[in-house]
Amino acid sequence: MQSVHVAIIGGGYGGIRAVERLAASTQVTITVIDKNPYHYMQAEVYDFIANKVDMSHIMIDLPSLCKSFERVEFVCDEVTSIDTSSSILSTQSKTIAYDYLIIATGSRTYFPDFITGLREHAHGVKNIPAALDFKQQFERALLNRIEAQTHGCEVEPFNIVIGGAGLSGVEIAAEMAAYANRFYQNGNFGCRGIDVYLIDAYESILFGMDPFLIHSAYERLIKLGVHVWHNNRISEVRSKEILLDNGKTLDFEFMIFTGGIAASSLTQYLGFETNAKGHLIVTETLNIPSHENIYAIGDITQATDENGKFIPPTAQLAERGGEHAALNILRSLKGKSKRPFRFKNQGVMIALGGEYGAGLLPGGIKVKGYLAYLIKKGIFRFYTDALRRRSAIGKRR
Ligand SMILES: Cc1cc2nc3c(=O)[nH]c(=O)nc-3n(C[C@H](O)[C@H](O)[C@H](O)COP(=O)(O)OP(=O)(O)OC[C@H]3O[C@@H](n4cnc5c(N)ncnc54)[C@H](O)[C@@H]3O)c2cc1C
Repeated sequence: MQSVHVAIIGGGYGGIRAVERLAASTQVTITVIDKNPYHYMQAEVYDFIANKVDMSHIMIDLPSLCKSFERVEFVCDEVTSIDTSSSILSTQSKTIAYDYLIIATGSRTYFPDFITGLREHAHGVKNIPAALDFKQQFERALLNRIEAQTHGCEVEPFNIVIGGAGLSGVEIAAEMAAYANRFYQNGNFGCRGIDVYLIDAYESILFGMDPFLIHSAYERLIKLGVHVWHNNRISEVRSKEILLDNGKTLDFEFMIFTGGIAASSLTQYLGFETNAKGHLIVTETLNIPSHENIYAIGDITQATDENGKFIPPTAQLAERGGEHAALNILRSLKGKSKRPFRFKNQGVMIALGGEYGAGLLPGGIKVKGYLAYLIKKGIFRFYTDALRRRSAIGKRR
């Protein structure tokens, strides 16, 4: 029986799902390479920032997880190049030969150059150190605010700005506002608290999403006291001030930018075809064009449906991509033809601060409020519990 070695770059949502599927075949040995020794569950980061859970809740130990499978090795290192002619990839410290390769290195915050000063003065939450910095600064800001009010409530407004009202920006704004409100309520602090601003250039928040989600999220944000400034384009960010195209300005203490993502920087060094933000162009079987043994999945790709329409990058899309790349590798091993990737969205759930959410379930069923929150949490528990059970097995090995 032919045995093959699959290298998977990136132990995120897509990479891990590919491991789960491929490890079931005794024909396959796998090496997972990630620059971090953990899987960062970034889709749940708002709970961490808002102090609802500690850091361990948004991480899974990759060495233990990989050890729980047969024939899966983990290498903690950054991949720097791929030599497709000899099927060898290089990390900072070694080379690894592969028969098949899955590139699943995700994305990073995109700071557009046309917004002067954005990169220098705004933070992202696409990695754990950045999320931790933000969380710590937010707590420090709360304390500073209380201390500034020792001699009365007459102090300057204290603003936190979230630039970009897509899924992640909305979730973070709602959770930060709910957290700050809870903090002021619990402590019976009488003065004015922190103001959260959500700013976006589009004509609505969650632009392009279902009107039910847009409306539910907007209503909730307003109820939480978030200042929602849609139709407002940021043109410049200074150390403590934002300038908008329409001439408005806003002072801020700190700013998070969630207005877009660019592909992980690895794509710059590969020589594969990309779009303007570095996302890899893939064929309908999820291959890199002209490289039948190389797949790319998740946020690092420019995903489109069968009509060429853009599919927004989500954890769900990355997981389906991981499953599909694995399926096609296993089919190739059996001498069968590859299948085209068809993405069927299973719905979307949005956390909207505290124990509140909104979502669309399969079949277009609409939910909002506590039930939506419970469903969202249930999906997350289902995902993490399975991985934690596996990593506990790996830890004992
Ligand atoms: C705040 C926030 C909220 C979100 N909410 C949702 C949500 O509610 N629902 C949803 O479906 N999606 C959500 N998303 C999007 C979702 O998290 C991403 O779409 C998903 O993480 C993409 O998975 P991936 O496997 O492509 O990449 P990732 O999960 O980002 O994994 C990439 C991995 O590659 C590794 N890596 C990168 N470069 C290298 C290299 N050169 N060498 C080795 N390793 C490397 C990284 O360390 C990382 O572990 C949210 C994202 C954010 C930031």
